[in-house]
Amino acid sequence: MKSKVWLSSPHMGGNELKYIEEAFDTNWIAPLGPNVDGFEKDLEIFLNENVKVAALSTGTAALHLALIECDVNPGDEVICQSMTFSASANPIAYLGATPVFIDSEKDTWNMCPAALQEAIEDRIAKGKKPKAIIVVNLYGMPAKMDEILAIAAKYNIPLIEDAAESLGSKYKGKACGTFGTFGILSFNGNKIITTSGGGALICHSQADKDQAVFLSTQARDNAPHYQHSHIGYNYRMSNISAGIGRGQMEVLNERIEGRRKMHDFYAEICKNMDGIELFSEPDSDFYSNHWLSVITIDESKSLKTREDLRLAFLKENIESRPIWKPMHLQPVFKDAPYYGGKVAEDLFGNSLCLPSGSNLSDDERERIAEVMIEVFSNKKKYSVSQ
Ligand SMILES: *Cc1c(COP(=O)(O)O)cnc(C)c1O
Repeated sequence: MKSKVWLSSPHMGGNELKYIEEAFDTNWIAPLGPNVDGFEKDLEIFLNENVKVAALSTGTAALHLALIECDVNPGDEVICQSMTFSASANPIAYLGATPVFIDSEKDTWNMCPAALQEAIEDRIAKGKKPKAIIVVNLYGMPAKMDEILAIAAKYNIPLIEDAAESLGSKYKGKACGTFGTFGILSFNGNKIITTSGGGALICHSQADKDQAVFLSTQARDNAPHYQHSHIGYNYRMSNISAGIGRGQMEVLNERIEGRRKMHDFYAEICKNMDGIELFSEPDSDFYSNHWLSVITIDESKSLKTREDLRLAFLKENIESRPIWKPMHLQPVFKDAPYYGGKVAEDLFGNSLCLPSGSNLSDDERERIAEVMIEVFSNKKKYSVSQ
């Protein structure tokens, strides 16, 4: 059996262990310490928008706290992009609120502004104004932020930007994660950089960050004994994980470059293939980290389906994955309201995520190219040009 080619595997920079050793040497083996402070500072500098960052145990935890800070309570409604990972929507349910799902538009595959507007008006007409809007930058691609922010402002609804997949992406030169009232990041093992598991809440005021840190450390009031007037959570990032994060921040720009190179690699392979479209930036306002490279297969032209390619990869021990199944089609959310058409559903039916790691070797790339050329019977000679 050939060695496995992963969709997106961790890619260490080299200094992660140095930060972990420092933590051991100074005995900061806790969910606080110099690496946590340092990692937050590194992220604040990288995002470059005067933001305050709270390092947390997961991206999901960051979303949960963002919703709490937006005052989401049982019975409330929260708008959420339908095409996303379930972690975008689950925290709405944790709070006893109801998700209202929105279709994608075809340019960025993210939240459709027209469907968003329709949903807000209809929910208000039905007697409930949504408490927050969760927009996602799918696979690194920024959403149509100007349009979405204008709608959020018009109805005075806070925007939460799920930037779990888009650290390093930009819209009109501004970092993804910094557009909404809150932004969230994930450092799960499959993301562009990782802390093994981890996340962060991006805030625009020290007060909002302080509140997130307070809630994430069991909501202890200022008293010598354990005194609580709020429900708390154990969501802070460990000083060990943050050490990995500090090492990863040293190589983040290289990782973005590496992922973008993988996108170029697929562009080269796909350029003469009929019916294969690589998910790409609509214009120069959008800068994607291309966390994952994704293709859409038009069966009428390629004469092959997404499953043909996926199974051919599988046979060669190469991992690929259909794109996120939209939330409004998930059994667990079958009763949730939905606005839009079939854009997300159609994309789900014929799009495939391809191996996209910044650590793939020339050899692995060659194996990937061979399968694609074989499946789509493209006779054009392929050569590795990196
Ligand atoms: C990974 C991911 C999350 C969740 O992050 P965790 O750190 O795994 O909890 C949330 N939203 C999206 C879109 C993601 O891809």
